[in-house]
Amino acid sequence: MLSVVVEQAHRMAVCERPNPVPAEGEVRVRVRLAGVCGSDLHIFHGKNPFVTYPRVIGHEFVGHVDAVGAGVSALRIGERVVVDPVVSCGQCHACRIGRHNVCQRLQVIGVHRDGGFSQFACVPARNAYAVPDGMPTASAAVIEPFAVAANATHRTGVLPSDVALIYGAGPVGLNLLQVLKRVYGIRTFITDHVDERLALARVCGAADDEIINTAREPLARALERRGAAGGPTLIYDAVCHPAILEEAVGLAAPAGRIGVLGFSATPSSLPQQALTSKELTLYASRLNCAMFPTVIDWIMRGLVDPGRIVTHQVNVRDVAYAFDLAENQPRVSCKVLLDLGEDA
Ligand SMILES: [Zn+2]
Ligand SMILES: [Zn+2]
Repeated sequence: MLSVVVEQAHRMAVCERPNPVPAEGEVRVRVRLAGVCGSDLHIFHGKNPFVTYPRVIGHEFVGHVDAVGAGVSALRIGERVVVDPVVSCGQCHACRIGRHNVCQRLQVIGVHRDGGFSQFACVPARNAYAVPDGMPTASAAVIEPFAVAANATHRTGVLPSDVALIYGAGPVGLNLLQVLKRVYGIRTFITDHVDERLALARVCGAADDEIINTAREPLARALERRGAAGGPTLIYDAVCHPAILEEAVGLAAPAGRIGVLGFSATPSSLPQQALTSKELTLYASRLNCAMFPTVIDWIMRGLVDPGRIVTHQVNVRDVAYAFDLAENQPRVSCKVLLDLGEDA
C-alpha cells in the first residue's frame, strides 16, 4: 500500500509499505479520502509535542471496511466509515467522567499511532462510524474537523440570545460558523484578512454584515458599527495566536464565554481585572468528545454541509503540493483532501 510517512521533522515520503493486519477489536479501512489539517503540517514541521517518528499521519479520513480483526462482526466488511481519531483508555478520571478526548493516556490516530494518509489503516472498530447512504464522501471526510467545531460549541453552550464572534475563517472557523448559523441560528461575526476566505464564510451562512476583514477595519470599530458595541457574548479563537486571546478577553461582553482551540506554547497575558470584573469563562476544547453521531445527524437532516469548505482533491502522490496549498495558499484553498482511491 502507499502511505505518507513523516520520517522525522521536515522529511516526508510517499512509500510502499506492507498492508497492516487488523488486531483484535480492529477494522481495516480501505481509505478513500483524507483531509489535510493544520496539525499534520505541525507534525511535518516538528512542532507537535506528542508525535513520535516515523509516523503515517492523517486523522480525518473516510473509506470502506475491508477486513476485521477477532471479535469484530464480519458484517462490517463493505461498510463505508468515517474514523474518529480519539482513542482513550476508559479507566482514568477524564474517561470516567465522560471526557475521554482528554484521556490521561490519550492516543490520537495519525499522531500517536499510524493514521489515514495511507491506502489502508487499522483502527478500533468502535472508532469507525457508519456513513449513511446519500452522504457525499467528500462531506464525510470533513466530519472530524466539523466535530472539533461541534465540540467547541458543546463546551461553551450556545444561548438563543448569544452574539458570537469567530476569529479566523479557516476550516475550523468556517465549521464553527456553520454550526452557529445553521444549527443554532444566532448572529455570528467572523473575521479574517483574506477576502476569499470571507467569501467562503458567506457560503457557510454568514450575512454580509457579519463578515469583517480586520486588515481593513479595526475589529472593535467594526463590531460597534454593526450594533454589537456591548461586545460578543460568545467568542471562539480559531486563529490560535496568543494575542487573540488577550484581545478576546477585552472585547467580550460581561458574562461572556470564550472557546479556546489553540495549542500555542507561548503564554497569553490575561488581566485578572477583565476576567473577574466581567466574570468571563474560558472553555478550552480539544479534538472532540463523541460528537460524530451528532455531526452525522446534522448533515443527514440537511442543517450543515461540511463539504462546503472542500476546495481541492489531490492525489496522494502529490502530498507535497497538497501541503503547500493548505499552508501557503489561503486565497485559493481551504480544506484540501488527499485522494487515496483505487488507482492512487
Ligand atoms: Zn485536524
Ligand atoms: Zn482515559
